[in-house]
Amino acid sequence: MIRVLLTNHVLSGALIGALTRRPAAAFAIGAASHFALDAVPHWGDWASPRHFLRVAVPDGLISLAAMGAITALAPAERRPAVLAGMTGAALPDIDKPAKLWFGRSPWPDAVDAFHLRIQPEAPRRAHIEIAAAGVFAVAALTALRRPRAAAGSAGRLG
Ligand SMILES: [Zn+2]
Repeated sequence: MIRVLLTNHVLSGALIGALTRRPAAAFAIGAASHFALDAVPHWGDWASPRHFLRVAVPDGLISLAAMGAITALAPAERRPAVLAGMTGAALPDIDKPAKLWFGRSPWPDAVDAFHLRIQPEAPRRAHIEIAAAGVFAVAALTALRRPRAAAGSAGRLG
């Protein structure tokens, strides 16, 4: 039971959606970003399942809150891409709650094996995860607030 905080996947997916602005591309890049982030050394290697849940449950709730807040904050024309980016980035980790509640992963064994194999995790990296969450949150919100670069859209507010 190891992983990057779901909050970080959601926030990086929001950043991808804000930058790509196209839902299909944001979803695909978001899913790819999940495995790229997992391959970076991160927090994990839990001492016990109880310890894992003490982090995973608040992390899951914060992720949902972040998805809701970012969706609400996103300008209407970028909202579909932002939502698609967050969904794509979070989706590979649906196997964690699925295993907890239903006893099995929804993904093929090959995907689960790959997902596990790429993860170099170690305890006591919480500060890195929390710093990363801050960076992703600021970057995503900055990208969302940046006005459209196109010159032809004068007169549009938001
Ligand atoms: Zn993962």
